[in-house]
Amino acid sequence: ITRVNGFDGEEFESINMANYAAIVQKARDAFGTGRTLSYEFRVKQLKNLLRMFEENDTDLISALESDLRKSKQEACIMEIEICKNEIRQTLLNLKDWMQPDRPEKTFVNMLDDVAIYKDPYGVVLVMGAWNYPVQLTICPVIGAMAAGNCAVIKPSEIATASAKLIADLVPKYLDQECFPVILGGIPETTELLKQKFDYIFYTGSTTVGKIVRAAANEHLTPVTLELGGKSPVYLDGTVNMNIAVKRIMWGKLVNAGQTCIAPDYVLCTRETQEKFVAKAKEVLKEFYGANPKNSPDLCRIVSDKQFQRLKEYLNCGKIVVGGEVDASDRYIAPTILVDVKPTDKVMQEEIFGPILPIVNVENAYEAIKFINSREKPLALYIFSEKGSEKDLFLKNTTSGGVCVNDTIFHAAAEGLPFGGVGCSGMGAYHGKFTFDTFTHHKGTLVKDYNIIGESLAAGRYPPYSEKGLAF
Ligand code: NAD
Repeated sequence: ITRVNGFDGEEFESINMANYAAIVQKARDAFGTGRTLSYEFRVKQLKNLLRMFEENDTDLISALESDLRKSKQEACIMEIEICKNEIRQTLLNLKDWMQPDRPEKTFVNMLDDVAIYKDPYGVVLVMGAWNYPVQLTICPVIGAMAAGNCAVIKPSEIATASAKLIADLVPKYLDQECFPVILGGIPETTELLKQKFDYIFYTGSTTVGKIVRAAANEHLTPVTLELGGKSPVYLDGTVNMNIAVKRIMWGKLVNAGQTCIAPDYVLCTRETQEKFVAKAKEVLKEFYGANPKNSPDLCRIVSDKQFQRLKEYLNCGKIVVGGEVDASDRYIAPTILVDVKPTDKVMQEEIFGPILPIVNVENAYEAIKFINSREKPLALYIFSEKGSEKDLFLKNTTSGGVCVNDTIFHAAAEGLPFGGVGCSGMGAYHGKFTFDTFTHHKGTLVKDYNIIGESLAAGRYPPYSEKGLAF
């Protein structure tokens, strides 16, 4: 059995759970054959994966619609095209990435071959999250296979339709022993995490991140943890409000706020808040019409549990925009809260929904103090046209990434690592960083028997004498 369906009842689950060791062993045996190491195998798998996206885009769009009521545009831009581009970029560069690096040599190693070889780890586990269920599950797999690993793929059970589709499609396109898909919820994941992996790549909440890291510890397995947190926006009143508000509201509302780098809250003066709220009302009308509920472009909340959690936040501060909810549709209107206190629930937890609180600060210094008094965020957004203010934030705060005068887009910039710091995660990926994440960089020194080289290092042999000392 290389594919497990954990959705179909107790009996099925218990049988399948018992097979996890066998599935991982099968992947380990496949890795042991050495077939994942060749450039040709990796290219073939990557091309097959690309074909999977090209031939099944309609089904992928439907699955995303069913899980999150994602619009076709968001499904294509934020999930399918991101994966396809990542595969294309990897195919273009793979040969180069696989080559050993040759660092600069010092005098002592002048005659030696000093190289960094790129070893795959072996059998890795990739655990995806539900909010971008395709992108966040498949993008790490692209790097894992490019680096020559086998990967056990575990989509999030919360995005049920996407998870099932991934489990259906992947075995049709990829080597089944090397890339098994395992479905299931917390009991299945708990059981799966007991297995020994050579690397674990996890995307999800900080709370579960700790569980994953503790499980990985048992086998001293290295991990990348792509977690969440509260990503602040600092808004300076001097910016072009028309553009700034659009960029902030889009970043907040794409996927109905269920984005790990969504702007979580805004820090600004009371005066700027007035301008922001007035403009936000116009922008929302432009984006979603008079009643956002009727717009086909606004996603829904993924589950009742998440809906109830978000509804609670509407009791914090004062609602100046939105506030409407409909449990039967898991709809929450784009909402702005003012007069919010740092101790309010909405300011204590990652929001992960279409609710934007504003906290007033007097200036950039106060904003930096506020940010630094909390856990390090995954993203930090600075809206300011003053270069000195931008530098102030860049030098005095730490976050996974930073985007100045826009939101989200730093995650799509080619060449930038994407990842958190502190409670927002460890490790990074995207492009070559994903390849490097799944690669053990093996430092290698090759000497020959050249007599000059031997005499250069002769001082190391006993009997030791003063003249053998280099200092
Ligand atoms: P989730 O519930 O889908 O969980 C992610 C994975 O963890 C799933 O495979 C799930 O089966 C597993 N899991 C859940 N509970 C578990 C448990 N108790 N034990 C073992 N495994 C368990 O996703 P989520 O955690 O609700 O995702 C939302 C969070 O993810 C947010 O905090 C968000 O910021 C973060 N996130 C981060 C990124 C990033 O790239 N840094 C991207 C997306 C989401």
